[in-house]
Amino acid sequence: MKHGTTNGYGNFGCRCRPCKDAQAEYQRRRRLERASIEPPADAHGKPNTYTNWGCTCAPCVIASAEKRIAYEQRRIAAAREQAAS
Ligand SMILES: [Zn+2]
Ligand SMILES: [Zn+2]
Repeated sequence: MKHGTTNGYGNFGCRCRPCKDAQAEYQRRRRLERASIEPPADAHGKPNTYTNWGCTCAPCVIASAEKRIAYEQRRIAAAREQAAS
């Protein structure tokens, strides 16, 4: 196997210095990537932002809850119609 790779660390369980360094570097990059992935400013207040980005700011939470409520109301209306027929 090749040392100094996340493959050596992850798949072969190697804990030599180069493999540990590679793993640390990989995790650092992943953290940076995640941190840099943020919804654009104008995306807030939309249900998709809550779903796709996991944004839990107040406008996104409200938009997502309102969408869920609208969905439930449609289901209730449909069920009522069925019950009436
Ligand atoms: Zn190694
Ligand atoms: Zn948001």
